[in-house]
Amino acid sequence: MSDLELLRRTLAPPFRIKVVEAVKIPSREERERILKEAHYSPFRIRSEDVYIDLLTDSGTAAMSDEQWAAMMRGDEAYVGSKNYYRFEEAVREITGFEHVIPTHQGRAAENVLFGSLIKPGDIIPGNTHFDTTRAHIADKGGKPIDLIGEWLWDFDHEYPFRGNLDPARLEYVLRKYHDKIPFILLTGVNNVAASSPISMENIRETRELAERYDIPIFFDACRFFENCYLIKMREPGYGGKSVAEIVREALSYADGCYMSCKKDALVNIGGFIALRDEKLAERCKERLVLYEGFPTYGGLARRDLEAIAIGLREGLDERYLEWRVRQVAYLGELLERAGARVIKPTGGSGVFLDVYSVYPHLSEKELPEVAAFADMYLEGAVRIVGAPFPVDFVNLDGGEVERRTFEFVRFAIPRRALTKAHMEYVGAVMERVMERAHLNKGFRIVYWPEILGHFFARYEPIS
Ligand SMILES: *Cc1c(COP(=O)(O)O)cnc(C)c1O
Repeated sequence: MSDLELLRRTLAPPFRIKVVEAVKIPSREERERILKEAHYSPFRIRSEDVYIDLLTDSGTAAMSDEQWAAMMRGDEAYVGSKNYYRFEEAVREITGFEHVIPTHQGRAAENVLFGSLIKPGDIIPGNTHFDTTRAHIADKGGKPIDLIGEWLWDFDHEYPFRGNLDPARLEYVLRKYHDKIPFILLTGVNNVAASSPISMENIRETRELAERYDIPIFFDACRFFENCYLIKMREPGYGGKSVAEIVREALSYADGCYMSCKKDALVNIGGFIALRDEKLAERCKERLVLYEGFPTYGGLARRDLEAIAIGLREGLDERYLEWRVRQVAYLGELLERAGARVIKPTGGSGVFLDVYSVYPHLSEKELPEVAAFADMYLEGAVRIVGAPFPVDFVNLDGGEVERRTFEFVRFAIPRRALTKAHMEYVGAVMERVMERAHLNKGFRIVYWPEILGHFFARYEPIS
């Protein structure tokens, strides 16, 4: 057996544990009470009351000793901190873009970049837009369109690149609306596409179509390292390239990108915009001062910039990425063994459940995703999240944009924070859930505000 096979088979991580954080498991009676008091919403439960928190992979990574040490090298100057220059150098090296603008997280980058590019009435096509992305496009008066194909909802087949946009749909939208499209936004490894990547071939094809209409492309690069690692694993011609080379190639087809560093850059807070065009960068910097801060700190403590510079390089380490993607796949296997159906092949960020495989007796109206969260919490103090996710789907037959939903139930895995045994615990809790799922009568909404409703919603069980 080769070293690589040995590591894959055992899921031995490329690190050891130096600091630990104690976690408790509330009793079953406590869990019942906590769920009720939280109105059955994962967003109303305290972290203290959760044993394994798979709510999100965002900002939940364990930082390395090198990152913590770097935090002590914070040069907290308002202007021109040395940490900024190390951050800028790391972002330039990795993305290939000259102009680097720090932001406090991904949505802040969206606010600043979109505010510099979108006019009311504009249309922003992409493969699939993330929820804060949609909200920021709408906030600037734009309309997001998702150019995903029918394969998003086809769980019977495995799609190595479920995140691809459909070139036929892009062509259609470009032909029809090109003078209203300021840019195309491509997202690498998106929740909405079940954490499945976009392929290099699809990126190149998008570039060719966009060039015909002289429309720039930007990347929402929050999970771009995982995306590019999956390209290396799955796409012919990329097996021999380094993930860093793949990242540079993919971004070379774009005019810029933004990143929530809370995902692949292995920090708890931070983000950036990186751009080719100096004029656009100047416009963004003016908005940045208004919303985030001076361009050499962008809403962050300077020590955070130093931690990002190191996290970006650690996030690109291929032994780490290999372990990470295997860990996600392993949880997928365990959930399947428990009898649930997962969307395959698994990708980055976490495992996505076909929620009707657990609750075949519930309809969309009976909120099976809330049932899944409540049951995972009740049976083992595991926190997951589910919500119907809006997709603005282009129907080529009628030519109209129709609102569809993607039933989103995700087991997101924090990076470097959990072991194989934690995954096995989650798998065992899923077994318990499967035994009793048929007794769950579903939920109804008691409260649902208009913007980002699922964050603030309240539910009650149907009795
Ligand atoms: C997390 C995320 C964002 C928003 O970033 P925040 O840091 O949470 O503000 C935008 N797009 C994608 C694809 C994301 O995963």
